[in-house]
Amino acid sequence: MTGGPRPAVFLDRDGVLIEDTGYPHDPAEVRWIAGAPEAVARLNRAGFLVFVVTNQSGVARGLYPDEQVGALHRWMSERLAGAGARVDAFEHCPHHPDAPLPAYRRNCRRRKPAPGMIEDLLRAWPVERAGSFLVGDKPSDLAAAAAAGLPGHLFPGGSLDAFLGGILR
Ligand SMILES: [Mg+2]
Ligand SMILES: [Zn+2]
Repeated sequence: MTGGPRPAVFLDRDGVLIEDTGYPHDPAEVRWIAGAPEAVARLNRAGFLVFVVTNQSGVARGLYPDEQVGALHRWMSERLAGAGARVDAFEHCPHHPDAPLPAYRRNCRRRKPAPGMIEDLLRAWPVERAGSFLVGDKPSDLAAAAAAGLPGHLFPGGSLDAFLGGILR
């Protein structure tokens, strides 16, 4: 792979890579979506940059500290590496406009449906927009993609690898 720009896939986390069990934050609770590591490995092989963009208002709600989000992402990276898969960068937004914790009470430009996390990744990485897309499980994910000028695909559940295989075909 040369160092030139590459298309990127932006993945929501909860409901796309891991089950959305309601603010998952403890590795012991995590259940992977079927085919998720295989899907990431498939994207790696196809030459995509792979990013995770996840709202984590559980931080703003005081359910877990911000450091726990990074810890979970490091754990996910290790498990993915064991399956030969790599996420190039994780981005999360800990904010919420009605947060009980004042430090995180903000109408953040990075909180989906706003496109800030995607925009920041587009700025920081050599992304080729043509061929790039997002996969999410909620309309707010697709709205963030649209606001960033990228197509979005709504993951209906089942195997993420089969779903991505269909998109890439
Ligand atoms: Mg989700
Ligand atoms: Zn934020």
